Amino acid sequence: MHTAKERLLTTLGVRPVAIWGARMTGIGFRRLATQNGINAVAFIDSDPCLNGKEIGGLSIYAPAQLPLLRKQHPGLLVVIAVSIKEDEIVELLQRGGLTPADYLRYSEYCQSFYTIDVVGSCNLKCPSCVHSLDTTGIPKGLMSIEDFQAVTAKMMTDIGLVSHICLYSWGEPFLHPKLDQIIEHVHRIGVATAVSTNLSVISSDQIEKVVKAAPEYLKISLSGYYPDAYNSTHAGGDVNLVKSNLYKLRHFINKHKAPIFVEVNYHLYNNNAGPDLKKMQDLCAELGFSLATVYANVTPVERLIDYCEGKRDPVITELSKLLLVNIDQGLEVTRAYRHLPCRFLTNQININWDRTIPLCCVCFYRGDTILSQDYLKDSLDVILKNKENHRLCARCRKHGIPPYLLGVNQKGWEAIAKDYERTHHRH
Ligand code: SF4
Ligand code: SF4
Repeated sequence: MHTAKERLLTTLGVRPVAIWGARMTGIGFRRLATQNGINAVAFIDSDPCLNGKEIGGLSIYAPAQLPLLRKQHPGLLVVIAVSIKEDEIVELLQRGGLTPADYLRYSEYCQSFYTIDVVGSCNLKCPSCVHSLDTTGIPKGLMSIEDFQAVTAKMMTDIGLVSHICLYSWGEPFLHPKLDQIIEHVHRIGVATAVSTNLSVISSDQIEKVVKAAPEYLKISLSGYYPDAYNSTHAGGDVNLVKSNLYKLRHFINKHKAPIFVEVNYHLYNNNAGPDLKKMQDLCAELGFSLATVYANVTPVERLIDYCEGKRDPVITELSKLLLVNIDQGLEVTRAYRHLPCRFLTNQININWDRTIPLCCVCFYRGDTILSQDYLKDSLDVILKNKENHRLCARCRKHGIPPYLLGVNQKGWEAIAKDYERTHHRH
């Protein structure tokens, strides 16, 4: 029987490949392609902030440039390498006249993309996030290096085709004193890695150690340039510390010649889309970092279900005053995508710091949403079986929460946000 990797390499053959998805999944695929002599000729990504940029010497093109790429590279195969938004891309490709012979879904070969939440807590309390709520019943801690090695060893055996691992879910990975060793271990097993951080961390030494370990993708989430805006939505963080750390990051990257793709993930609210955004864009341009905007939403699934079922928490009431796209609008603008499979469920396996396996990366509380008490003890089949027909999924899907959290139909979100700004500027 052929392994998933053998099947993938056979399908790719000698065709030129365009990788659709220039973030972690695409970067991981690129690493695999390089290791196996695959002819990757371009990245494609629909996020305008990435167009014209390069990752590891490979240019990122807009979807509108695909016909030109196909002309330049006869037989071009589009590899859809994203972890959750693949259905929207397939629709787009089909509308452009491509047939299944012209593209492949990388997820069909990998089976699952893995996230290991190496830290079980965060130093901030953003109102949009579960850490603003009472989470005292949830165990907190750090994954040990020994556990990390055992977990990744099982993962490689379970799947056989792992090209990247994300080292974050609900936790702040920079709080792990051995994050550098964790990243180095991922590289030793031939896999790329992604880290997401609020970068509101005091230790320069930790930043330098992580830079030296060189995760392929480093995301910095923030929500403003000046303290007024930032503090209202990244509660407990210090944006001046973050900004000084952005400078340090550039300094350490240069010092160690570290090949890290750095992206600032700018959460858009109605109080930070003007001068704050402009200043942060300028800072990122100066430092050579990418900046992507994303409309802030609300997590986790359990809180959204409560909201949809009429239970309002005071944090949401306050936060709603700052959202450019409120929860109801977000649920409505993604309504047309409710029939699609939930890719948080089908494409991902998340492993908590204590080796438990949650149903998905957007639910938080424990109980029957823990599919396995110990990833090392349960087979992948058992874990996948426990995902089936889950009670929480039925409630979540009933309210249309998966496409809202996936953030599909970004054009629709943009129209609502523009409308908000128009209306509020009139007064
Ligand atoms: S959104 Fe990120 S930085 Fe903010 S509390 Fe949650 S995990 Fe921490
Ligand atoms: S349906 Fe909801 S609860 Fe179930 S996996 Fe998807 S996002 Fe998570």
